[in-house]
Amino acid sequence: MGTQYVNPQLPTSNSQERSYSVSVTQPALTSLTEDETLFRNSVYEFADREVRPLVRQMDDEAKLPRALIDRLFELGVMGIEIPEESGGSGATFFHSILAIEALSRVDPSVSVLVDVHNTLVINALLRWGNEEQKRALLPKLAESTVGAYALSEAGSGSDAFALTTRGAARGGDYILNGRKLWITNGNEADLFVVFANVNPEAGYRGITAFLIDRGAAGFTIGKKEDKLGIRASSTCELIFEECVVAADRVLGEVGKGYKVAIETLNEGRIGIGAQMLGLAQGALDHAVNYTKERKQFGHTIASFQGVQFQLARAAMEIEASRLLVYNAARLRDAGQPFLQEAAMCKLFASEVAERVTSLAVNLFGGNGFVKDYPVEKLFRDAKIGQIYEGTSNLQLQTIAKQLLS
Ligand SMILES: Cc1cc2nc3c(=O)[nH]c(=O)nc-3n(C[C@H](O)[C@H](O)[C@H](O)COP(=O)(O)OP(=O)(O)OC[C@H]3O[C@@H](n4cnc5c(N)ncnc54)[C@H](O)[C@@H]3O)c2cc1C
Repeated sequence: MGTQYVNPQLPTSNSQERSYSVSVTQPALTSLTEDETLFRNSVYEFADREVRPLVRQMDDEAKLPRALIDRLFELGVMGIEIPEESGGSGATFFHSILAIEALSRVDPSVSVLVDVHNTLVINALLRWGNEEQKRALLPKLAESTVGAYALSEAGSGSDAFALTTRGAARGGDYILNGRKLWITNGNEADLFVVFANVNPEAGYRGITAFLIDRGAAGFTIGKKEDKLGIRASSTCELIFEECVVAADRVLGEVGKGYKVAIETLNEGRIGIGAQMLGLAQGALDHAVNYTKERKQFGHTIASFQGVQFQLARAAMEIEASRLLVYNAARLRDAGQPFLQEAAMCKLFASEVAERVTSLAVNLFGGNGFVKDYPVEKLFRDAKIGQIYEGTSNLQLQTIAKQLLS
């Protein structure tokens, strides 16, 4: 006889059991409070007014002007979850998601700077930093210091904990040696969260997170990558040669860096979902505008049902992305499990972003293929969503693990 098959039981049990106490008055996932609406609108208006005129130049030059980064600090999107007494906005993770979505509608290169700074660096410091580290660093991160997060190396991407950067204890310090690759904000950051292994015999339990300043002796910024998309966002190699880091710059406990990485990246992933969501929305905004203007066969191309149906499908897919992204972010803010939801939102939103930007290029026709129009850039930018903060296969792995556990 074969394996005995037992019918599934309802409710389905997975490892993320939670109590459902949804009342009929619960607002829709996409309902925003007045404060959230004002915040989202102010970020979008800023992006439209101050970022949009710079998009083409920043992409051509592969550079974010410091003056624009200063304006992001002034706007209050560089310390969203930092408490007000430390100079931040004292807002929620969900606010970060709204800001990333709104900025991405105009330029995903600008939004990823904000995303890494808030959802990875500040997030890690808020959760794992000791009081002294928070007192010293949070006000700077809210005011003018850009953060970067350095986990990946040439030999360790998906297999992140195979990292070979070493931290050797010497006196009261750690001496770091190794190289990091692909580090977003490498050009702009003054504070780096860097993962190194201080006890390779212990495997991943030797991984430790360090807070390292730009300019630390033995730390240099290496090659800047020349990329397909999000070109204005810097992606750099970091080189550590006998870099001395004081023991009080360990973030969290020695040997617990793997936890810092897992937890922050689970949340960061929702930020990438928001980036891809905003990017797709931006592409659809352009496609709607263009198809209402462009005439062929004596009519606007938006009047053709074939085009209308393509736009409608894109709008539906974007709304589905938004629901997944907002749900994951709201679960995180509510302190409920969100691992699977975060993986799903990033995976889905990045696939939608690829499809919608490709459609936008098609609907612009020849104009979609040239740099004088905005959609070819968004098409290039969309590709990164399936690669960083865990490739699509790794998101599928996470979802499958939850499903089968
Ligand atoms: C523009 C950019 C910015 C980045 N920013 C940062 C940053 O700020 N900080 C940072 O630490 N890193 C950053 N990264 C690194 C990024 O997170 C890694 O590139 C990513 O995790 C993939 O690692 P990899 O490039 O080594 O690819 P690999 O891990 O070599 O993957 C190659 C392919 O193999 C597949 N694969 C690997 N393992 C499996 C498996 N077990 N099952 C199925 N398929 C598998 C992957 O899905 C992928 O398709 C950035 C990368 C880029 C390109």
